[in-house]
Amino acid sequence: MDLNDTPEQAAYREHVRGWLEQNKQHAPDGHGRGDEEAAVEAHRSWQRRLAEAGFVGVTWPAEHGGQGRGPLEQVVVNQEIARAGVPGILDTIGVGMLGPTLIAHGSDEQKQRYLGPMLHADEVWCQLFSEPAAGSDLAGIQARATRETGGGWRLSGQKVWTTNAQFAAFGLLLARTDPDVPKHRGLTMFVVPMDAEGVTIRPLRQISGEPEFNEVFFDDVLLEPGSEVGAVDGGWGVALTTLMFERLTIGAGSEGLGYSGDRFAKAIAADEVAAADPEVRQRLGALSTELLALRFTGYRLLTALSRGQIPGPEAGLGKVTAVNAAIEAGDLIADVVGPEALAGGEWSYLISFLPGLKSAGGTEEILRSTVGERVLGLPPEPRLDKGIPFSELRAKERQEVGA
Ligand SMILES: Cc1cc2nc3c(=O)[nH]c(=O)nc-3n(C[C@H](O)[C@H](O)[C@H](O)COP(=O)(O)OP(=O)(O)OC[C@H]3O[C@@H](n4cnc5c(N)ncnc54)[C@H](O)[C@@H]3O)c2cc1C
Repeated sequence: MDLNDTPEQAAYREHVRGWLEQNKQHAPDGHGRGDEEAAVEAHRSWQRRLAEAGFVGVTWPAEHGGQGRGPLEQVVVNQEIARAGVPGILDTIGVGMLGPTLIAHGSDEQKQRYLGPMLHADEVWCQLFSEPAAGSDLAGIQARATRETGGGWRLSGQKVWTTNAQFAAFGLLLARTDPDVPKHRGLTMFVVPMDAEGVTIRPLRQISGEPEFNEVFFDDVLLEPGSEVGAVDGGWGVALTTLMFERLTIGAGSEGLGYSGDRFAKAIAADEVAAADPEVRQRLGALSTELLALRFTGYRLLTALSRGQIPGPEAGLGKVTAVNAAIEAGDLIADVVGPEALAGGEWSYLISFLPGLKSAGGTEEILRSTVGERVLGLPPEPRLDKGIPFSELRAKERQEVGA
């Protein structure tokens, strides 16, 4: 791939850079610990401003309020936002993953109603997939939706690790609608208003100090007819679309997750003793090599995107490498800087938040198994629940362990 901008991309880059230069004084200043509500509102106005300038939903079709541009223009916007040192949008999950899912599977009414306010952050969205017993095994979902007379639905169950639920207007929720078929088949995707009666949101505070995610309970929540996204009992296919966009959203932004070897070298150079320590230098060298390799893997991903190809399961390895590099970098910085690295300054997000990404968006073990099976053609993992109706799984499990 030619890594230089084409004349059109260079002109677009100049346009984005010029706008950011003129508007960056309106950007919120980072993670805003303390007054969380004010921080969310500041971030919301920043996304609105970016949307009005045409820098949100860059790849979305124009008929849905997007710019109809290619993935490389989205990368230009991401790069220029990073270069300007300002935050990206508030609703990465909505715009990056859930909006594209609605575009692919939603009804015309859903697209008409939800996509515009999502782009402008007037309504933020959350992803209601994971449950206490359904994370890696996502198809093991137990939240239950049953048909009401009149075509609506009654929803009960629990979700967990729901990022942004505390200020989301809507969630995209995967629920079981038919327990009497094998587990991947009886699932349906729904749009759920987060202010509906029977929805309870409880924050989970992370070690980084921020309650970014939540547990969410649904007690007999009534959903209107037409709340389902895609076919009834066809929710697994809809979920796969979201997961593909999740991989792209994390993968495409994963060039060191915003960190580079130079930045670590600068921090270490400030400490004469550490800078002269051969072990520190060796760790920094190994880490910088990984980050560089990641950058080139990222270019390969971009090449595929620019040719209109959808990156395959191998893209998951970018996430595994990026997260492990971030964890090693956090350990190195903590060793050099000492405990004050965790005191809320430049490095605390790296050390206390990024390790959690080992689980988010597919765990390392699951991604490695996927690459083993689907890229390297290794024999598949044993799947004891294949073909068995979901409602019979617990009984079957008990038989297996001889209970
Ligand atoms: C920061 C963060 C934000 C998140 N935001 C959201 C969100 O907004 N919405 C949402 O729905 N979810 C969200 N999640 C949840 C995330 O999707 C899950 O954490 C993830 O799917 C893993 O599930 P789990 O945590 O239940 O781990 P488990 O699936 O219980 O896994 C536990 C461990 O067992 C290993 N393991 C499990 N099965 C296998 C296997 N078959 N082979 C080998 N090893 C295995 C895993 O790799 C892992 O190490 C978020 C998570 C994090 C950390």
